[in-house]
Amino acid sequence: MNNYIEKVLNEVCEKNTTEPEFVQAVKEVIKSIAPVINDKHEAIALLERMVEPERIITFRVPWIDDSGKVQVNRGYRVQFNGAIGPFKGGLRFHPSVNQSIMKFLAFEQTFKNSLTGLPIGGGKGGSDFDPKGKSDNEIMHFCQSFMNELQRHIGHDLDVPAGDIGVGAREVGYLFGQYRKIKNTYEAGVLTGKGLDYGGSLARKEATGFGLIYFMREMLKANDLELKGKTVTISGSGNVAIYAAQKALEYGAKVVAMSDSNGCIYDENGIDLDEIKRIKEVERLRIKEYQTKYPNAKYLENIKGETPKVYTIKADIVLPCATQNDINLETAKILVQNGVIAVGEGANMPTTIEAIDYLIENKILLAPAKAANAGGVATSALEMSQNSMRYSWSFEEVDSKLNQIMTNIFANCQKTSNEFNLGINYVAAANIAGFKKVANAMIAQGVI
Ligand code: NDP
Repeated sequence: MNNYIEKVLNEVCEKNTTEPEFVQAVKEVIKSIAPVINDKHEAIALLERMVEPERIITFRVPWIDDSGKVQVNRGYRVQFNGAIGPFKGGLRFHPSVNQSIMKFLAFEQTFKNSLTGLPIGGGKGGSDFDPKGKSDNEIMHFCQSFMNELQRHIGHDLDVPAGDIGVGAREVGYLFGQYRKIKNTYEAGVLTGKGLDYGGSLARKEATGFGLIYFMREMLKANDLELKGKTVTISGSGNVAIYAAQKALEYGAKVVAMSDSNGCIYDENGIDLDEIKRIKEVERLRIKEYQTKYPNAKYLENIKGETPKVYTIKADIVLPCATQNDINLETAKILVQNGVIAVGEGANMPTTIEAIDYLIENKILLAPAKAANAGGVATSALEMSQNSMRYSWSFEEVDSKLNQIMTNIFANCQKTSNEFNLGINYVAAANIAGFKKVANAMIAQGVI
């Protein structure tokens, strides 16, 4: 690490002592971009500006629950970096949401969006609201109250939120309805992940999971491997996990385990994805429910403080598609011991820095989140394009653009790896490739 990078990193640690996830995300990027940092960057305080969000908005979200009681949550929107386009990034509704998590996600989003090659800046938002166990009515009232404030800060040329954990088509629908009501205009491109009947894009729902597997396919191919015949385990059973499973199956892999935050189901004959979709997308139940139809499948309950059970199952390919810091060093050691070949990050920052280093040292192919899960936001940008054109592409058209974008992202990572002698360290390659474009745009636009 050069002196300038070390100085910036120390400042970030000192200034953000209560934000461990944010500091972790910055460390991961800054450590790996040393080969492209020079004196000119230091002279214009490029890194200092890059690690400071352009704007953070926090706000009160009051709403009335079904019993008539007033509830109050905290809302956030972090507009991190708008150098290459309008801020773009999802909304997360989960009780763990805080400023550190919002900032880490928005920071990462900046480089991910850059990697897509599309003109979108980095942002993220959400609330500590827990949608689990809430009625439809409560979800709607919460979303409406959230949008009452958020609407002041977003717009199709300014900031375009989408979904993330706890925010799917239902929530985006309520958010969009309230925005339209307040603004009295049909600004379709202000939110992405919309329903197909009102400006949504075909293949957006599938995009992050499909994109992850397209990236995995390219990474395996570059290393003389393929998905066909491989066993796969997936952490999570939400939007990303389900469509990653679907595409992996299409490529001839066998998905043997999926999970939620309580535990995982393990079916050595291969999981019935239609049943998972019914449980998670339609009924919104716990994954344990899978055993009702398949009593021979195993259910392994997580134990607090221990490695999530899904990572204890032997597999060739492991796809963390749930949440951040799911794979720590201890878990990484279990994966290596079990003979894993590749890990594909569908979730954002699912692997700790120590675990990343350990996996790479042990020659495990690691598809980094910023690159591998960029298919969701890329397709969101395609949704914005369709909204601007007042036109919609077929599923096949969107999917083929997504496939091409993911292929290009991998090629960009491979080229960067070759240029800087990074071997299979695609984490560093993605960070450098994502950084370059943001840096160039910031330099061109002056000190702002
Ligand atoms: P969903 O809400 O659809 O699903 C989240 C899944 O992860 C659920 O199975 C959930 O289980 C599990 N999960 C959530 N929090 C935890 C936790 N603290 N511990 C263990 N499991 C947990 O979210 P998505 O599929 O949309 O998002 C998953 C990941 O992918 C996130 O990291 C997100 O940032 C990332 N991502 C999503 C994109 C998208 O397009 N949706 C785009 C790019 C990245 P449970 O139901 O028990 O909470």
